[in-house]
Amino acid sequence: PSKEAFDLVSMTREILAGFEEKAASENVKLVLYTKEERIEYYGNRDKIKQVIINLVQNAIEASESGDEVHVTLEKDSEEIRFSAWNGGKTIPEETLKRIFEPFFTTKTLGTGLGLSICKKIVEEHGGSIHASSGSEGTVFTFRLPTKEFGR
Ligand code: ADP
Ligand code: MG
Repeated sequence: PSKEAFDLVSMTREILAGFEEKAASENVKLVLYTKEERIEYYGNRDKIKQVIINLVQNAIEASESGDEVHVTLEKDSEEIRFSAWNGGKTIPEETLKRIFEPFFTTKTLGTGLGLSICKKIVEEHGGSIHASSGSEGTVFTFRLPTKEFGR
């Protein structure tokens, strides 16, 4: 089955652990903030994992030595919210408008596919994704409704 129940908190912890070596080698600190011990979600496990990997990877790639990446997981009665924040340079308005387009990249070796895939997957799950960037850093947030489970 393409959908199954899984815990987003442990999935996120595992992903961050997988990036720990890369982050440490670049002197970037990864921090997870969540009040929840577990966040049970029903959806396509591999695809949601890919979304989180893409967002964390982008945040690390946008960081410089000494920076921090903050990942936050929250839930309420209606939705689950995931966000990945990084400090560093503000994304210019013109760039921000285009980041979810397939093949849009500002990286020499970038594919420009990560965020377009994230958007597609989140929307397939009935959710939404958005980015904001300013002097307080850059944050990507996706929301997944929990009402659509039908279970
Ligand atoms: P890629 O990572 O291959 O460039 P993405 O679709 O993941 O493709 O991202 C598209 C573009 O969005 C990036 O090239 C970069 O300009 C911008 N971007 C994405 N995430 C961040 C971030 N956390 N901080 C700053 N810019 C970002
Ligand atoms: Mg990317």
